[in-house]
Amino acid sequence: MKRIYLDYAATAPADPEVLKSMEPYFFEKFGNPSSIHYFGQEAKKAIEDSREITARVLGASPDEIVFNSGGTEADNTAVIETAFTLAGKGNHIITSAIEHHAVLEPAKFLEKKGFKVTYLGVDKDGLVDPQDVKKSITDKTILVSIMHANNEIGTIQPIEEIGRLTKEKGVYFHVDAVQTVGHIPVNVNKANIDLLSLSAHKFYGPKGVGALYIRKGTRTHPYLLGGDQEKGRRASTHNTPGIVGMAKALELCSVAMGQEADFQSKLRDRLIKQIPASIPESRLNGHPVKRLPNNVNFSFKYIEGESILLNLDMLGIAASTGSACTSTSLEPSHVLLAIGLPHELAHGSLRITMGRWTKEEDIDCLLENLPAVVKKLRSMSPLYEEK
Ligand code: PLP
Repeated sequence: MKRIYLDYAATAPADPEVLKSMEPYFFEKFGNPSSIHYFGQEAKKAIEDSREITARVLGASPDEIVFNSGGTEADNTAVIETAFTLAGKGNHIITSAIEHHAVLEPAKFLEKKGFKVTYLGVDKDGLVDPQDVKKSITDKTILVSIMHANNEIGTIQPIEEIGRLTKEKGVYFHVDAVQTVGHIPVNVNKANIDLLSLSAHKFYGPKGVGALYIRKGTRTHPYLLGGDQEKGRRASTHNTPGIVGMAKALELCSVAMGQEADFQSKLRDRLIKQIPASIPESRLNGHPVKRLPNNVNFSFKYIEGESILLNLDMLGIAASTGSACTSTSLEPSHVLLAIGLPHELAHGSLRITMGRWTKEEDIDCLLENLPAVVKKLRSMSPLYEEK
């Protein structure tokens, strides 16, 4: 059976060029970058070259990049370590109700430790209002953490406006850019970002490697203690092949970004137009235009997202009901509830995310099959009466 992958927001296959760049660092260039002999120094050079590339892509300087294990570690470090470091200054954190669990769980953890957290609501399209950020900042606020684009509904937040406010108020600004780096432009200076999370497997790099950007002068204690790797900011032997692969993936994305975003947004807009035309009572989730080029999210009344997913999977089409990390949970998505969807619609959502290898005919195939799948499931639903 031909299989079609439309779940790029969960993870993307690595680019073959990425794998090629990594290979030598498993074999002849296997040294530990902390060793002072030839093998170590060869690996260290690769790490430092990768740091330069990563910094350049973000508009940062190389010593502001801390390599780590990916988005979850970057988010945890940014939220928990900033809070603990600045606890003497204040105990208030602002975030949004639609953040990834890698931010929300640390926020809940901090609440148990005595911190106060404001979870900002969003409008029906998933947008945070910068004025709400402004109104929530008090003299006790130490951190604002707002994601760049949402992983479920694709809405892109006004981070430049929020960054202007946090800078004005002297509050640290963390941005979870796991879904945007490599896909749309991200510049830490334009948005006055102090801390930024990224993860290689979302932009055709290897899994288990990422980075936290930490603006020079930003106070954070290290999260992992041990050796003095990453200038003491993150202990543990470097994942040289992973870091080299991530930098290669970023280089490839920098070249291809504009063209890929144009193509994917054409496919996205086709789905946004044609799905409601062929399926009654379908609802687009997320902002109609301020959204990731590769993201489409619909709710279909009367049926469960999981059933749609399983039926599509039987036809060879892989999509998602929302975040891959929560897809095993029976709870409706916190993101869909936050944009005001009733429980029954929040359960009936389908996320389609495209990527480098998505073809027009993959979208044709989805559009051919989805209406019949929804129709079949509705015919079995006791809630549905055909009009
Ligand atoms: N933040 C967002 C917005 C994500 O989409 C994800 C992964 O889906 C993460 C954080 C976690 O990243 P990682 O899988 O690299 O730990």
